[in-house]
Amino acid sequence: MKSLKIKKRNSNTLLLERSKRSELIGFLLNALVIGSIFYSVFGQSAASVLKSLRNSQPIHQALALGRHMYQGSCLCGAITIEVHGGIDSIIHCHCSKCRKSSGTAYATNGFIKKAGLIIKTGEEQISFYETSPGKKRHFCKVCASPIFSSNESSPELLRLRLGILDSCIEERPISHNFVSSRANWDDLDAELPRYDGHEPSRFVQK
Ligand SMILES: [Zn+2]
Ligand SMILES: [Zn+2]
Repeated sequence: MKSLKIKKRNSNTLLLERSKRSELIGFLLNALVIGSIFYSVFGQSAASVLKSLRNSQPIHQALALGRHMYQGSCLCGAITIEVHGGIDSIIHCHCSKCRKSSGTAYATNGFIKKAGLIIKTGEEQISFYETSPGKKRHFCKVCASPIFSSNESSPELLRLRLGILDSCIEERPISHNFVSSRANWDDLDAELPRYDGHEPSRFVQK
């Protein structure tokens, strides 16, 4: 009789332990599911903020950069960048300077905010050529990929060379520019407006 009581108590304890264990497993599974949902929603932006902090970018810069985030790299891969805040006024420029610096029919360029450019790696590998006073074309001094140009008259902006982007982008080119400077073998077969100078919208206040 006594031994039967002990057995019963033991089996009750066993049941209690089992239910505790299944509660613990349930809790861990829930934590795993909630954790992975949280990471998929917030993980990417948190990672990018942490990365820019690691690269000594001011926190306000990392946080106030808009919803677009594009990534790019030069041909040798040493320079890697992030572009935050979108790209404006993308055009195909057929001027002789863009032809020579890109080595082809035209360069595709667009405005980005200087504050929106994060150079993740290889900053020391960026050199520049000053084509006219205050206007610099920045490129990788190892592989010669054009990265962006800068103009002292609008220091808050840069003109990104779109060929270095690795991300798909939402924006699209709006025109062919400086078409009278194009190479004579360049037949401009795209269905975009053509201008002999800058696109007119560049001078419209936005
Ligand atoms: Zn390079
Ligand atoms: Zn040009």
